[in-house]
Amino acid sequence: MSEAVNIPDPLKRKGIIFVLSAPSGTGKSTICQSLRQSPDFSFIVSHTTRAARSGETHGEDYTFVSEEEFVSKIDAGFFLEHAHVHGLRYGTPKQDVIDRINEGKDVVLDIDVEGARQIRALKDPEIQDALIDIFILPPSMDELEKRLRKRGTESDEQIRVRLNTALQEIPVWNQYRYTLVSESMEEDLSKMRAIIKAERYRTTRLLEA
Ligand code: 5GP
Repeated sequence: MSEAVNIPDPLKRKGIIFVLSAPSGTGKSTICQSLRQSPDFSFIVSHTTRAARSGETHGEDYTFVSEEEFVSKIDAGFFLEHAHVHGLRYGTPKQDVIDRINEGKDVVLDIDVEGARQIRALKDPEIQDALIDIFILPPSMDELEKRLRKRGTESDEQIRVRLNTALQEIPVWNQYRYTLVSESMEEDLSKMRAIIKAERYRTTRLLEA
């Protein structure tokens, strides 16, 4: 019994763009950092006009650019999406994302709700097929405030601004494909991994043998 039949190679598939949005304080950065440590994710370095914080490296954490440079890159069509977040500009380099998904690598993008909206609105079928967007909701506003206070990195005023921003961000959760209501970090990571795993097995991602 040796008839030829084509079995696709599960290791040869198209890459996925996981877009993760969540209000500040839900634990999104920790989740992203944890996922990116795994070798099956490629890290895309965003551009920003904000100054580097101590410990951050240019080209690794972000590509830090001036306002002029950022605007000229917008004009040149350099970004997949770009947005103002807390009064500063952030953007994802388009070609880096396209190169990675063509290599069959998955990327995780930690971007705000405006950036996610722009990616959803793109007409490019290659991007839409690859796109999986996920929103992480806090269990309640009280719990979000508690978490922001507990981490102790923001002043009362900054906490107030972040809670106000969260009130603007939360109502768009239903535009995302997946929604998680945050529990413990372990629970959240385990739910994220379940989504990632299932998405990797989708038939449409496999390439014909
Ligand atoms: P931070 O300055 O604390 O590193 O990031 C602030 C916020 O900017 C994060 O919550 C993240 O969602 C958002 N952000 C980071 N990179 C990008 C990006 O490339 N595009 C967009 N739209 N938002 C980003």
